[in-house]
Amino acid sequence: MQSLWQNEIADQINTPLAFRVYTSRLLGQEPALVLHGGGNTSVKTQVTNLFGEVEEILYVKGSGWDLETIEAAGFAPVKMDVLLKMAQLPTLSDSDMVKYQRAAMIDPSAPNPSVEAILHAIIPFAYVDHTHADAIVTLTNTPNGKAMIQELYDKRVFVIPYVMPGFALAKLVYEMTRDLKWQSIEGIVLMNHGLFTFSDDAKTAYEKTIELVTEAEQFIEAQLCLKSEAVEEASGQAPNGYPEQDISIDLVELARIRKLVSAQKGAAQVALLNSSVPSCHIASHPKLKEIATRGPLTPDHVIRTKRVPVIFGENIEADLSEYASKYIEYFEAYQHEQTMLNYAPNFAIWQGKAAISFGKTVKEALIIEDITSHTFDAILTAEQFSQYQALSAQEIFEVEYWELEQAKLKKAANNNMPLLGKVVMVTPAATEVMQAVVEQLTKLGANVLDLNEYHGFDTLDKCQEAAETAVIDFGGLDILVCLNDDSTNLMLINTCEAFLEHGLCPTVLCVNHLTLPVMSSENINVLALNSSVNTDIGSTEDKHAGLFNLTSAITMMLSPEYDPNNDEVKV
Ligand SMILES: [Zn+2]
Repeated sequence: MQSLWQNEIADQINTPLAFRVYTSRLLGQEPALVLHGGGNTSVKTQVTNLFGEVEEILYVKGSGWDLETIEAAGFAPVKMDVLLKMAQLPTLSDSDMVKYQRAAMIDPSAPNPSVEAILHAIIPFAYVDHTHADAIVTLTNTPNGKAMIQELYDKRVFVIPYVMPGFALAKLVYEMTRDLKWQSIEGIVLMNHGLFTFSDDAKTAYEKTIELVTEAEQFIEAQLCLKSEAVEEASGQAPNGYPEQDISIDLVELARIRKLVSAQKGAAQVALLNSSVPSCHIASHPKLKEIATRGPLTPDHVIRTKRVPVIFGENIEADLSEYASKYIEYFEAYQHEQTMLNYAPNFAIWQGKAAISFGKTVKEALIIEDITSHTFDAILTAEQFSQYQALSAQEIFEVEYWELEQAKLKKAANNNMPLLGKVVMVTPAATEVMQAVVEQLTKLGANVLDLNEYHGFDTLDKCQEAAETAVIDFGGLDILVCLNDDSTNLMLINTCEAFLEHGLCPTVLCVNHLTLPVMSSENINVLALNSSVNTDIGSTEDKHAGLFNLTSAITMMLSPEYDPNNDEVKV
């Protein structure tokens, strides 16, 4: 791993907070160090308050900020003396910790301080860098993890056993480091969690992370070499690497999986096929079921991915129902008065094929895809030189059902997006009309397939390609809006039929420029609208009349009063 520090940029920086922003972003640019909001950083500095008094302040990453894009406003300024006093309390609930950290801020408009703020305060250096580096968590998620970390770093790194993040972790570090000679160590490894490095200088703290992680990466490489030499010696031949795979995906089956998972979630989901190299390798691994269901790489991933994926074999329905029962069992085994989350999976491994990530939005599914790709890579690597061993189900449960996460559930805004997770294909048409329809659908939360590169669906191939694009980009198709009364649209509808059948509420809305006609097909539920605009579309006014009707048509179609089986809307 290379340091991304550039003197030309650093020479322009002149405040501690600006240095903090700079090196935080350098850490954030490396996905093997932190992913999507993971990790946190801080800087300790002095601030003169309103009364001319100098105060020691910890600027620590605010929750909701990502290291890759963080700005000065993303750091919460918290009084150091309060944080250090909190570390001495015998107990403190995480909700109270968040409350009192917030009360100790010198700027009430700043974001909530990271839940690791107390831990950052305890470390007696100006700059503290914390990452969830892949190489460190790969090593610590093995049965011999601690021994390997000690073999690798010896006394240069202080090792803290796994404990739940938040006050419990800060307290443990406080107790364990009371007599520590901080100058004698280069970093702290938190088992199954990550790495801390520190210095009074921004560059040294950052480059220490790069250096220690590079050592861990080289250590793993060396372990892999030793293992393959041993295999070669025993068998007389070099071990096989993973074979190149040529996976074939049945898109109709993928659309069906999306439909079933959405039904289990109780809301439309996007389903993104993840055919990255590690995903395909793990999907074809002979011990797939065993190694892929041991748990996440770091406990905070559970919030995005759930503890384990569903493994799809021959019978998708049976696999999903088994997943649901096991999730309920897991909840019942560890719950203490919490509210159960949804029992549908957030990602799947499709045996012999690839992985699939689910989400209410493409963004959410892509985050899951990134996290799980790194996890698959770590599992496969650990399995080659040792064994992948995640934290226990109970320890993961405590993070999934953390009081701070449960509080977020209660606050979760009731969004007003009836089309969230749904996939809509809109055929290209007169720009104004299409723009209005696309804007309206997007406002309602739909994923709208951009068909701008297509001009007319005059060949079956073009129709087929458009329909398949919906499944490849989003996992399926729910609504097809044909904006022209063109006979080729019928060909498109027929081509999309299979995917619409596997949609959640398959609907086809056909609208021409003059009327909002009824188009029917035996197998597709069609919205029948009998209103018409008996006007020519030549003038701007008439176009607006058309737009008005289009919008009302879509509004009616989306109305809870709309019954797709009866082909009518009560208005
Ligand atoms: Zn962490």
